[in-house]
Amino acid sequence: MIIDVARQIALKQYSGNFSFEYDCPAELVLLPSAQIDGIVKVEGEFEIYEDDSVGIRLKISYLLRGECSYCLEPASERVEYQNDILYLTEDDGENYSYNGFKIDLTTAVNDAVLFSQPQILLCRPDCKGIEIK
Ligand SMILES: [Zn+2]
Repeated sequence: MIIDVARQIALKQYSGNFSFEYDCPAELVLLPSAQIDGIVKVEGEFEIYEDDSVGIRLKISYLLRGECSYCLEPASERVEYQNDILYLTEDDGENYSYNGFKIDLTTAVNDAVLFSQPQILLCRPDCKGIEIK
């Protein structure tokens, strides 16, 4: 998931779109007995500023599949997440940084997968859990 900033600047194309399919590492899923079904769809827009910093609107979506946190029946949820991030050519401890030539989005996408995950997965919104009869 590379944005070739130097090439974009050479072409004088200072903004654009991107789209990737990402095979996310399984250990990024925090919920026990859940997994990402298929790929993470990654898309967004970028804008290169005069000082070579790059603003990115990052959107990810994926299908999380596992057991309902309440009743343990099969459950799945489509997760959509959007985040505006900034890449600087120097690390300021707050934003992402890159070498001034190419941006590798992997770290930002991994962070987005972590931030976007629900705390619980439910088979249906009103699941009451395992009912004792
Ligand atoms: Zn349930």
